Amino acid sequence: MADALPVDRALSIVLRATPVLPSEQVPCREALGRILQEEIRADQDYPPFDKSLMDGYAVLAADLDGAPRTLRVVQEIPAGRDPERLRTNERGEASRIMTGAPIPPGADAVLPVEETSPVPGAPESMRANGAVGPGANVARRGDDVREGEVVLKSGDFVGPAEIGVLAACGRTVVRVGRRPRLAVLATGDELLEADRAPRPGQIRNSNGPLLLALAKRAGASAEDLGIAPDNQSALREAIGRGLESDALVISGGVSMGLFDLVGAVLRAMGVEILFEKVRIKPGRPFVFGRRGETLVFGCPGNPASTYVVFQVFARPAIRRMMGAADPVVAPLRGVLETAVRQRPGRTGYYQATARWTGGSLAVAILPTSGSADFVACARGNVLAIVPAEREAMAEGDPIDVILLDDAAER
Ligand code: AMP
Ligand code: MG
Repeated sequence: MADALPVDRALSIVLRATPVLPSEQVPCREALGRILQEEIRADQDYPPFDKSLMDGYAVLAADLDGAPRTLRVVQEIPAGRDPERLRTNERGEASRIMTGAPIPPGADAVLPVEETSPVPGAPESMRANGAVGPGANVARRGDDVREGEVVLKSGDFVGPAEIGVLAACGRTVVRVGRRPRLAVLATGDELLEADRAPRPGQIRNSNGPLLLALAKRAGASAEDLGIAPDNQSALREAIGRGLESDALVISGGVSMGLFDLVGAVLRAMGVEILFEKVRIKPGRPFVFGRRGETLVFGCPGNPASTYVVFQVFARPAIRRMMGAADPVVAPLRGVLETAVRQRPGRTGYYQATARWTGGSLAVAILPTSGSADFVACARGNVLAIVPAEREAMAEGDPIDVILLDDAAER
């Protein structure tokens, strides 16, 4: 049997085996969480005209030299007014202007309303109490972006901000990578679904719902294949169905036990096994294979292992399938608050909390009873990465962390 692979090697094998799925056009409002598969360019200059950034008075800055000065108010310009139809400000004149409204010819700055006062008995005038420089409180045409400039790249993730950019550029449909269809299969004679009462020796299937939720969060559409018992024919049947998806994620049955049959069944069904052990903790007996265009992730059944293996290997693969330019979310560098020890040889991915404190990311590794601790997964907001060669890390050491979904909420 092949030796266990370092995490980096295993991850690069996964990504090399992962196809980018064909793209499709979707309405922009459905593009959230997808990956762009086209370049978006500004369809015009933004802002499209010189506009006011404040409520106040459009003025010629030079008119306010030696302020306070009194200026004649010649027009009122609300937002939405056609810039071509404005009266020109002559010397000594000002235009009452609202935020977002076009600057009239002859003006080069906006004096905020707070710096003016009415002139008693002269409603057509205002008193400028301060001066402004040319260009003050004015956004020039094209300041934000020029017509034709690339505003979003192919391979970019579509979040709320990107949805806003698409709308600003007049887009209602957009080309994105197809969502992978991912099937989830839990295996084990001891398992039963969450709505059943366990008899002695039984446990509830928590990995199935966990993996379905992880898959959805990563952008895939997920199908639940339920539970297969530890026998060849049942596994063949369920795995056969799963192999019709873009990816099949199996939990359990990949260790060395007599009834860990998943690897053998996968081989018998023509799945090419690309590796079956990784130097990762938790999660060492992790099987990865491929049949045709379908990827197979065989995760160890312990919940913390399943969770880590999905985050480290399956999430990047899903993002690659959707067309992400950078499928592996880069780790952040934090400072360890809790000393940690491990047996060297495997890269540790430990549930931890990360918080901003005094300009650095303080990382506290959470106590856990081990890879079967399903509750620990719900406590952290990051996975803290302890390199394979490190036996111990001390308080104050720099440490890399991967942000988990919902990192900000936890
Ligand atoms: P296995 O990888 O099949 O040897 O399972 C390792 C451990 O994980 C055993 O204690 C299993 O009972 C447990 N386990 C396996 N599958 C699941 C699951 N779907 N949900 C919760 N625990 C599981
Ligand atoms: Mg099992």
